[in-house]
Amino acid sequence: MTKNIVKEKVRDILDGYLEMNNHRKTSERFAILDAVYDMQGHFSLDELSLALENSNFRVSRATLYNTMRLFIELRLVVRHRFIGQTKYEACYNNEDHIHQICTVCGAVTEIEAVEITDAIANTKFQRFRKDGFSLYIYGVCSRCQAKMSRERNKLKQKQDKANENR
Ligand SMILES: [Zn+2]
Ligand SMILES: [Zn+2]
Repeated sequence: MTKNIVKEKVRDILDGYLEMNNHRKTSERFAILDAVYDMQGHFSLDELSLALENSNFRVSRATLYNTMRLFIELRLVVRHRFIGQTKYEACYNNEDHIHQICTVCGAVTEIEAVEITDAIANTKFQRFRKDGFSLYIYGVCSRCQAKMSRERNKLKQKQDKANENR
């Protein structure tokens, strides 16, 4: 699905919801939705707000927050509570990845894991309609692992020296 088709689909979902609930179709919500689907990967509210400003669209914090809540309800956006940071992500047609979270530095990387996403797609849920999923794998990133082993080596050298001098 190309980006433009995705944007069209999510606009339709929002449009249908507003119509069904007799809400006003303000251009604001559609502009925010567009901006969300233009963002790359995970983003904070600040980053989204900046992107909107850069395209000369100013919205208040409250509007932005409330609109994102609506998008989450409509499963157009997913909210991640990563370590020490809240991030958002466009999730329509974007559920083919899982998240690796480093518990030392908090870095988040995305990887494709076909076996896992296929397994979830093929899972039969009980008395439940699945709308989507987010998966987090916790561990230690390679940079932190390298740093930890450097520190371990340094400590060992120090201990060896101390032993030599004994
Ligand atoms: Zn790390
Ligand atoms: Zn993600």
